[in-house]
Amino acid sequence: MRWENLSEGSADPSGPPRTPALFGTDVVTRTVDTPEFAGVTFHEVRARSIVNRVPGASRMPFEWTVNPYRGCTHACVYCFARRTHSYLDLDTGLGFDSQIVVKVNAPDLLRRELSGRRWRGEHIAMGTNVDCYQRAEGRYRLMPGIIGALRDHANPFSILTKGTLILRDLDLLREAAEVTDVGISMSVGFLDRELWRTVEPGTPSPERRLDAVRTLTEHGIGCGVLMAPVIPFLGDHPDQLRATVRAVAAAGASSVTPLVLHLRPGAREWFMAWLERHHPHLVRRYERLYADGAYAPKWYQRRITRQVHELAAEYGIGPAHAAGHRRGTRRPAPRVPAQAGPVEPDSPTGPAAAGSTQLTLL
Ligand code: SF4
Repeated sequence: MRWENLSEGSADPSGPPRTPALFGTDVVTRTVDTPEFAGVTFHEVRARSIVNRVPGASRMPFEWTVNPYRGCTHACVYCFARRTHSYLDLDTGLGFDSQIVVKVNAPDLLRRELSGRRWRGEHIAMGTNVDCYQRAEGRYRLMPGIIGALRDHANPFSILTKGTLILRDLDLLREAAEVTDVGISMSVGFLDRELWRTVEPGTPSPERRLDAVRTLTEHGIGCGVLMAPVIPFLGDHPDQLRATVRAVAAAGASSVTPLVLHLRPGAREWFMAWLERHHPHLVRRYERLYADGAYAPKWYQRRITRQVHELAAEYGIGPAHAAGHRRGTRRPAPRVPAQAGPVEPDSPTGPAAAGSTQLTLL
């Protein structure tokens, strides 16, 4: 489907008026294919609002989010934001990886909404649906304007990402951290390069992400690591967990929080097809492990959590060892636990809590 020249209420001239559901209040301005992003199509929209309230926020560590993009070229096979693409009448598999909706007016809109009389300056979480530092951000540069607006309003915020592009905005992040609470979390679930290449094919390598953690930390921006996802039977061997936590510690992360893979509808089908292609001998084991739904059994989650806790203690990860001490960076991002705390399906930061709002926990 192409959306050129469609706007709210406009339509394919040959058919009845129709606007993709998510764009019910947004205006699609143009669709762009560019050689620098072969195979990727950008759908530029002018959003009508940008600060979103999280439904059921009482169970969340935050109530407000900003998401300048839909779809994600990082293309993680397990990404459960995939389902949100179906709301746009788009494919949740390759379509999610390559049909990227860009809210081109996000910075201006945010500045306006932060100035609104009813806005109370509450914490805003980013990276809660798709990655705001995915490759598209290199082209559209929305985050500098967004961070600048938050800085100018001294509005607390957090960012969860797999994108090393965040380093481009280091100076802005430091400026913001001078006036408000800024929490940064990098998502690194494992170090295995073969696994990375196949299951997170569009992301910077885990090593590069940890280098970014190190750089942020060295520049006074405390950065935690969301160790997500821990992938059963492929990334959960004790030696793998140890190698990852050791590297996280060496990078100077202020915290490490494990999160076991969850497979919600939309992601589950895509992931299982990938598993069938790359690790067919594991299909039956996965069907058994995820027999009750989207989440691995609690005993399994607890085991991973305990192992990572013990390793985190062994390698000295925690606030006492963190290097970031600028204003606001001492307190880790509210959107993930401050320490390597348990992340259960029913915890405020766990997958169940995320479910109603399509939070990805990258
Ligand atoms: S898990 Fe995060 S980084 Fe990966 S595709 Fe989804 S939104 Fe992008």
